[in-house]
Amino acid sequence: MDIVFATNNLHKLAEVRDMLPDNFRIVSLNDINCHEDIPETSDTLEGNAMQKARFIHEKFGKNCFADDTGLEVTALDYEPGVYSARYAGEQRNSDDNMDKVLRKLKGKTDRTARFRTVIALILDGEEYLFEGKVNGTIINERKGQNGFGYDPIFVPEGFDKTFAELSAHEKNSISHRARAVANLIQFLKNTEVK
Ligand code: IMP
Repeated sequence: MDIVFATNNLHKLAEVRDMLPDNFRIVSLNDINCHEDIPETSDTLEGNAMQKARFIHEKFGKNCFADDTGLEVTALDYEPGVYSARYAGEQRNSDDNMDKVLRKLKGKTDRTARFRTVIALILDGEEYLFEGKVNGTIINERKGQNGFGYDPIFVPEGFDKTFAELSAHEKNSISHRARAVANLIQFLKNTEVK
């Protein structure tokens, strides 16, 4: 069965394709000739993920899923959360975003945070949500060159390295996104498709 993954991120597509059983085929936005910007105007991760999935389902009538991820910092009332990509402005710059988190955390003792990914699935017209989380702490300065986004300032629980110091393989084995995808896949494996 074909399922659209509402993303243009080739890396995410490859990661999910790798994990899915053979009877599911992941189709990209490109494959269905969807080249428009899908609106993401909700103030929650769940809302944004579902908005994207509904957009595709309503327009193309296809089974599909979409994801949304945020960094939730406890001492910042769970900011930047749904605004993670554009925390320091519409330029969507990771360095600016990290600087803003570090600046706002100055002098705070609670440095705990988590990454949270939500996946919204629409299958045969029914809506489902899946979640993946990884707890950790925000350190005082950047460390490491790998990854993207907030990786250089986030140390996952049980590790003494940032996400940006871990290999892609190490990060993918514990990441919020991998956990959310694993929950989606578990569900799909147990689902009889009409
Ligand atoms: P998206 O929903 O996957 O596009 O993620 C939104 C934003 O959250 C990204 O632009 C990054 O700033 C941040 N983000 C998402 N996943 C990660 C990650 O694995 N590491 C670091 N930052 C991330």
